[in-house]
Amino acid sequence: MASLDVMNPATAQVLGQAADSGPEETASAVAAAKAAQIPWAQLPARERGKRVAIAARAAAEQVELIAQVLARETGKAIRTECRGEVTVAADILEFYGNLGSELKGQTIPYNPRMLTMTAREPLGVVAAIVPWNVPLVLMALKIGPALVAGNTVVVKSSEEAPFATYLMAEILMQHLPAGVLNVVNGTGATCGNALTTHPDIAKITFTGSEAVGEAIYKIGASRIIPVSLELGGKSPMIVCEDADLGKAVAGAISGMRFTRQGQSCTAASRIYVHETLLEPFMEQLGAALNKLVIGDPLDEATDVGTIINARQAATINRYVAMAEETEGATVQRFGELPRDEGLSPDLFLQPTILSGLADDHPCVLQEIFGPVAVVKGWSDYEAVIEQANGTHYGLAASVWTKSLSTALDSTARLNAGYVQVNQNLTIQPNVSYGGFGRSGLGKEASLEAMLEHFTRSKTIVINFD
Ligand code: NAD
Repeated sequence: MASLDVMNPATAQVLGQAADSGPEETASAVAAAKAAQIPWAQLPARERGKRVAIAARAAAEQVELIAQVLARETGKAIRTECRGEVTVAADILEFYGNLGSELKGQTIPYNPRMLTMTAREPLGVVAAIVPWNVPLVLMALKIGPALVAGNTVVVKSSEEAPFATYLMAEILMQHLPAGVLNVVNGTGATCGNALTTHPDIAKITFTGSEAVGEAIYKIGASRIIPVSLELGGKSPMIVCEDADLGKAVAGAISGMRFTRQGQSCTAASRIYVHETLLEPFMEQLGAALNKLVIGDPLDEATDVGTIINARQAATINRYVAMAEETEGATVQRFGELPRDEGLSPDLFLQPTILSGLADDHPCVLQEIFGPVAVVKGWSDYEAVIEQANGTHYGLAASVWTKSLSTALDSTARLNAGYVQVNQNLTIQPNVSYGGFGRSGLGKEASLEAMLEHFTRSKTIVINFD
């Protein structure tokens, strides 16, 4: 079988070779999933759920092993990111494993002498395509609800970071019937395309970039199959005059996912701070960012690792250069870059704050997907809500205030699928998550997500009259 080199971004060395699945290998994974689907769907729903939960617990027992692989292939720090990611992925699977008995239909009062009801049915074989930034959590959000609902799945891992995905899936597979869960790896153009266009795929669930999401949506439309999309974001964070400053600064750092090098779709990358707090906010933010240790992802002392690859680092650097060339703009970089022998210097970037940019600057409107946030002062509440809603994204937003009326008003008016007040958390099991606008279609992480996106509702009318 053909293979692709996978790099360790921290060392710029080849980490290993992963499968480069072409159309034939992809078709054989779909065939295995198709053969396994009806027997899997015929198991009682709770039984499927129990098996998924057992598989999830087995994966949770291997946190260290999977996290070591994840850190090497993604460049994310093992302590601040990778162990937590494995644990959260297993938790999401266990959460779904407990939802088997919620796959309920309804009875309908159509005619007292007839039984009229709806039943939730699986869709068939699901194609689940994941990116490299949080591959395990994003895989779990797809395979958990798909499998518990009675579908079988072919996961397409990211060619940039396939090993931890495969390792976790392999552990899960040991607790599931053969063919229920399958993984293919390869480029989007060959493997991804072979998967999404395969006639036996009944549903596509995709997390990744806007451009690829749009192309996949068109493929789904041409075949009239459901598609869920989790795409990019440029999430605003509004710090009000009455906010708890310390909590807002900590929330900006965690919300911007600086310890993930900002490589997060929900990154709080536009931070609007009330002008009365702007100076102390910037001082505290700078002091806290300076304390983050940038370095070897495998070192327990490291907070911040590397960018995934040179292409992504070049994109981030281009945006920062654009800000540097803008009149009136300020670019502030924090923390020390590592100088250790053996670490590739180019993929380590400092947390960076841009200010003094106009609302229509590309750094304000576009997703940078790196450790770069825009900070801006505000004084007019109406104007800041308008600025917050001023991109074509709508993934997440947060508001920092002690006022309930500001919290209620702003959360109602912000155009985002996931709006938080006084916190900036990432995906939580049982809390529906998904974007508006060009950030995507559909929900993940909840019962609603499983019922709406991984089942179909059949209406049955029984007449013995
Ligand atoms: P990407 O779109 O380049 O790739 C994502 C996956 O799609 C990869 O597995 C890739 O191989 C595959 N792919 C690429 N072209 C394809 C095609 N034509 N057909 C089928 N599959 C194809 O994205 P990326 O660079 O890996 O990830 C970063 C992006 O993901 C960012 O834009 C980020 O905002 C987004 N993201 C969104 C969320 C969310 O929940 N909304 C979460 C994480 C990342």
